[in-house]
Amino acid sequence: MKIAIIGTGYVGLPTGVGLAELGHNVVCIDTDKHKIEALNAGKITLFEEGLEALMTKNIREGRLHFTTSKAEAIPSADVVMIAVGTPPHPVTKEADMKFIHAAARELAPHLSGYTVVATKSTVPVGTGEAVEAIIREVNPTADCDVISLPEFLREGFAVHDFFNPDRIVIGTDSERARAVMKELYKDFEGKSQILCVRRRSAETIKYASNAFVAMKIHYINEMADFCEKTGADIAEVAQGMGTDSRIGNKFLNPGPGYGGSCFPKDTMAMAYMGRQNGVNLSLIENTIEKNALRKERIADEVLRVIKGIRKPRVGILGLAFKGGTDDCRESPAMQVIEALLKKKHNTIARITHTQPKLIVYDPEAMENAKKMLGRKVKYVSNEYEALEDADVMLVLTEWRQFKGLDLARAKSLMRGNKIIDLRNQIDHVSAIANGFEYKGVGRPLMKPKK
Ligand code: NAD
Repeated sequence: MKIAIIGTGYVGLPTGVGLAELGHNVVCIDTDKHKIEALNAGKITLFEEGLEALMTKNIREGRLHFTTSKAEAIPSADVVMIAVGTPPHPVTKEADMKFIHAAARELAPHLSGYTVVATKSTVPVGTGEAVEAIIREVNPTADCDVISLPEFLREGFAVHDFFNPDRIVIGTDSERARAVMKELYKDFEGKSQILCVRRRSAETIKYASNAFVAMKIHYINEMADFCEKTGADIAEVAQGMGTDSRIGNKFLNPGPGYGGSCFPKDTMAMAYMGRQNGVNLSLIENTIEKNALRKERIADEVLRVIKGIRKPRVGILGLAFKGGTDDCRESPAMQVIEALLKKKHNTIARITHTQPKLIVYDPEAMENAKKMLGRKVKYVSNEYEALEDADVMLVLTEWRQFKGLDLARAKSLMRGNKIIDLRNQIDHVSAIANGFEYKGVGRPLMKPKK
């Protein structure tokens, strides 16, 4: 089949590459001409394990193309997918629909023959009707069905998730559109659940799922706080909970709070929709508030640990919002860093704190972090350099390589002996044996034996 994908970001690109690998003819469209130029030159524009090799293969085999021109890609497409961003509105925090509406307006004149227009972006309930109305206004004779096709892939696992989806949700009442989509995804029949539901249900499934996972993360974080006070170990508690099939063992890792390009904005958008519809989504509202406060509390904890140290230095390991991605959008690591930097300038609160020097390293996210943090921190080229003369090691992202850190070497490089591990990545037994004072999440403070 012929597929056009509008938006070549974290969703559009892996989807395009995946569909090409299944044998479809795919054209990925983006307004960002630098991105398209890079992709046409065979250069990947984001980090996802395994994506580059698959992309190169499909370009070489002639099934995958990139363009800025909708006129070039859309007329021949059987399915046009919209995968543009839906960021939070700066004021109301509802999903900002300007990219979706623009994409609908731009694709409409080029529709030719029967086409399924599938919204892959995460969009509020009722967006299907809005997209349909725009298309009808621009091109009243277009023969198309507008469906909801929410995306559930996880960043860092995009390739794996494309080929192994838990479910594919197709939201439409149109039998014709369903038949097209079932044909598109026929390779997944019998392997994954293919759910055909109403368009409004499909739009809701995506938000309801993300909000639920965000609440699960928040819940285990609160349990971790409880464990710290009571002497229980959250790893043991999470294991005990996770073996209960009603609960499941996913998203039971405590940490600095959820982040990334999806959970924060999707919980806020869901809460907004609740308020708009007069429904009290109190669990979601509470999760949003407490998750934001968590980063502030972490920054306070770091400042407490370095209090009294002259010219304190904090070696920060990890900037991406989670391991396996270069994405720093709404990253808890970036928010903790911003909070640490802000507290110095805050004349009302905590003026007594000395501003620490922050030395940062991330295996994949340095370029994205630089765009956001500029010259406010020092960037180094590996984890050991970040620890040179540091008073505290602060682990903020769960990269595999941090798990295998040579703690004897780290200790010899550092000035101090404190580890604050917000991802429970570091082997605490080895940390203590190497003379560190170790503070993980949901565990009591552990001090080296004298
Ligand atoms: P992104 O910002 O990485 O990519 C969006 C791309 O769309 C950009 O490259 C932008 O230039 C392009 N674009 C914007 N307007 C355009 C237009 N009119 N024509 C052509 N290109 C246009 O966004 P993303 O992370 O891929 O997210 C896309 C959507 O998918 C969002 O609604 C998001 O909530 C949802 N989603 C994201 C993920 C994820 O893991 N990132 C997972 C599931 C769902």
